[in-house]
Amino acid sequence: MKCRACAQKAVIRLPSHNSAFCPGCFDRFVLSQTARAIEDHRMLTPEDHVLVAVSGGKDSLALWEILSRLNYRTTGFHLDLGIGEYSAESRGHVESFASRHNLPLVVESLRESVNGSVTDIAHATRRPACSGCGLAKRYFFNRAALATGATVLATGHNLDDEASRLFGNLLHWHDEYLAKNRPDLPSLSGLSKKVKPLVRLTEKEMASYAFLRKIPYVLKECPHSTDAKQLLYKKLLNEVESASPGTKHAFLFGYLERIDRLFPMRLEEDHEESPSGRCEQCGEISWTPVCSFCRMKEKVAKDLEKDGLIPLPKTAP
Ligand SMILES: [Zn+2]
Ligand SMILES: [Zn+2]
Repeated sequence: MKCRACAQKAVIRLPSHNSAFCPGCFDRFVLSQTARAIEDHRMLTPEDHVLVAVSGGKDSLALWEILSRLNYRTTGFHLDLGIGEYSAESRGHVESFASRHNLPLVVESLRESVNGSVTDIAHATRRPACSGCGLAKRYFFNRAALATGATVLATGHNLDDEASRLFGNLLHWHDEYLAKNRPDLPSLSGLSKKVKPLVRLTEKEMASYAFLRKIPYVLKECPHSTDAKQLLYKKLLNEVESASPGTKHAFLFGYLERIDRLFPMRLEEDHEESPSGRCEQCGEISWTPVCSFCRMKEKVAKDLEKDGLIPLPKTAP
């Protein structure tokens, strides 16, 4: 098997691109696919300061590395979810990556700010752990973006993540989510613009990239990320993909070509949705007098107090 670009020995086969690459050409392929996604969806400008959400997994650490190799100004942001060994290991990988590459990093601890872990939040709100985690991430990302002066928030979602999300949203015709099923979400007043520069690259390609670039990352999945449906959608799409290479890409990008026609009201609606005030407790931008994060925090405190674990804090810090 020879590299399609230089005819040297290939190490990676990419059936969806009808290609195989040697390590050097694969590296250029990943950089150019990322640069193309950024350009096609007008994700970033050279003046942007990018806050990169890094979990400690392969996609987000690779994204951080790629964006700095593409000469973007970046700051890493890590939220320590306080889930035992998994979180300690994730945080360790993020911190050593930052110091190895001499890149600025902001770390927030959920346990310190909420006085509980994601597990406590799930218990107190009686909702799946992932919903509390998503809420906390949105809250801290936006806060960190405002504090660091970052203009854009970038996450490591890849083609598999985005295609399986689209698949699920279509199966249930979740119009509201379908309108937002895109790799570039505009900024709402005060809330940062969000982009997904790895949208053209698959899970497998990102794992190969992290391996070739020798990026250590946490292999374990989050113990709560057993979203069975999402895993099923990925599995189904991979079956279709192996029978018909290129389908995953065609499915997602065919949709993205049509999205502005399908949801032409998006920008106006976003304008109406813009949060108008500040949270009375934490001072962050909020739609309601007390933001959803602070309300969640209260629920956790009450729940823990009920269990006799900790005294209820009088006011939020
Ligand atoms: Zn080559
Ligand atoms: Zn608040």
